Amino acid sequence: MLKPGLMMDRPLLISGLLEHGAAQHATQEVVSRETHGPTVRLSIAQIARRARQLANALRGLGLQPGDAVASIAWNNHRHLEAYYAVSGSGMVMHTCNPRLHPEQLVYILNHAEDRVVLFDSTFAPLVQAIAAKCPRVLAWVCLSEREHLPDTPSPAAATPLAYEDLIAGQPDTFDWPEFDEKTGAVLCYTSGTTGHPKGVLYSHRSIVLNATTACLPDVLGLSTRESVLPVVPMFHINAWCIPYAAMVAGARIVLPGPRLDGASLYELMEAEKVTISAGVPTIWMGLLQHVEQGGLRFSTMHRTCVGGSAMPRALIEKFNEAYGVEVRHGWGMTETTAIATLSNLSAADWERPADERHAIVARQGKVVSGIEIKVVDEQGATLPRDGVSQGELMVRGQWIVERYHKADRTALVDGWFPTGDIATIAPDGVMTIRDRTKDVIKSGGEWISSIDLENAAAGHPAVAQAAVIGIKHPKWDERPLLLLVRKPGAALEKPEILAFLAERVAKWWVPEDVVFLDALPVGGTGKVQKNELRKRYGGVFSGG
Ligand code: AMP
Repeated sequence: MLKPGLMMDRPLLISGLLEHGAAQHATQEVVSRETHGPTVRLSIAQIARRARQLANALRGLGLQPGDAVASIAWNNHRHLEAYYAVSGSGMVMHTCNPRLHPEQLVYILNHAEDRVVLFDSTFAPLVQAIAAKCPRVLAWVCLSEREHLPDTPSPAAATPLAYEDLIAGQPDTFDWPEFDEKTGAVLCYTSGTTGHPKGVLYSHRSIVLNATTACLPDVLGLSTRESVLPVVPMFHINAWCIPYAAMVAGARIVLPGPRLDGASLYELMEAEKVTISAGVPTIWMGLLQHVEQGGLRFSTMHRTCVGGSAMPRALIEKFNEAYGVEVRHGWGMTETTAIATLSNLSAADWERPADERHAIVARQGKVVSGIEIKVVDEQGATLPRDGVSQGELMVRGQWIVERYHKADRTALVDGWFPTGDIATIAPDGVMTIRDRTKDVIKSGGEWISSIDLENAAAGHPAVAQAAVIGIKHPKWDERPLLLLVRKPGAALEKPEILAFLAERVAKWWVPEDVVFLDALPVGGTGKVQKNELRKRYGGVFSGG
């Protein structure tokens, strides 16, 4: 007969992370760029005091455990305080992506039943446009001092509250309630490219487990010696749980505020001696362009963690060879709380030639402890882990969604979450994303990976960004169309890029046509919006 373990049953709660940080890493710094410009420095102890003040203030507004509080905000210290104050007091922190269509924003604020909205002054016009359509919201709070309140007050609150006024005079002690660790803590909606966005309600347990795992040396590798810059937004999958993990590890955290262009990020990295950064590939393209043009170096940054879309191999190579920055490439989605797989180099891998190392990092890697993956065919049968058989990626684990917020049925198939990604898994467990089910190009009955083609095109020195979509073709059903953005000042024409690709991919993969653009449409989470490109260019091919 099974025997019960005889250990204490202490719940895994987000408030516990904050109090650990405050007690053990009290003087560690949180550096934050304000929306209006200056950089402020607070200690973790101060962040904790201010979070407790906010918890008292929210209680003072009449909010109860289970209520939802939304944020429409950049990565900054007030947003961090709210992360802890809201979830810690048993409420749900609903992080909103400000770049959703305003109607979608209205939909998610109402669907989540948010009572208070915390917003950055940047988003004041947006708040003004949507406030009247969100009748349940009783307070709109601008994350600033009174003197930095926006000129355009939201119509729902003749005088929007300033965050600093809200917390001023509140006690800096708060008895964090204890409750079941499976309680909802944070709510994040998917980007909703088809239909309404769907809410993923992370539990305290899923976040604490992920945050602890994220600190491991072979995951993000956070420690008291590191200064971590999450460029990945706090409204996108909990900024990969870095705001929580930094508290576990006692890492110094640097929050970039609204300015995410290459020059601003570089300046912040250097000024604040950032050692680890995390973000999507498009952000790193901007950063590297700035560094290349200025002939600059990174003096402290030694690692960058990339995910959200495939990291082109050419960028991995550049970070590594030209700048000595290690790249870790992760895969995850809103439904997985944060990173679920990560490519990393073992001691033996580090001995390999550079080319082989970059190829390893370009794949999406191995699962982190707590997660399992498999790939299945269209009938749901598990495919072999041979690195070749490709099918839909299925995932399960302690921080994977079971059902969407307010959904009456599970999102799982036989206990696994179907990701909508097409992948292969190699015998050593390394997973490679080949495509999204909706992006993969079916040509003459065979699959062409848009990601592989994009990566190959990004390897050309004149290419700043590349995207590939399928266009209808009378004979082959679909053919690839390549959309390119040239680097500033670079000259590149269609014959040259097609010849370049012909040397790197199978002949029948070479795109049917090439369109040069000034920029690719990028969504709120930094991903190229392929559905936009399909709408605009999907019918371009008219040849035979
Ligand atoms: P989101 O929930 O908006 O973060 O989108 C998740 C999706 O982004 C995944 O299902 C993948 O299609 C894609 N994705 C995330 N990370 C990667 C990666 N490293 N390589 C390729 N695709 C990725």
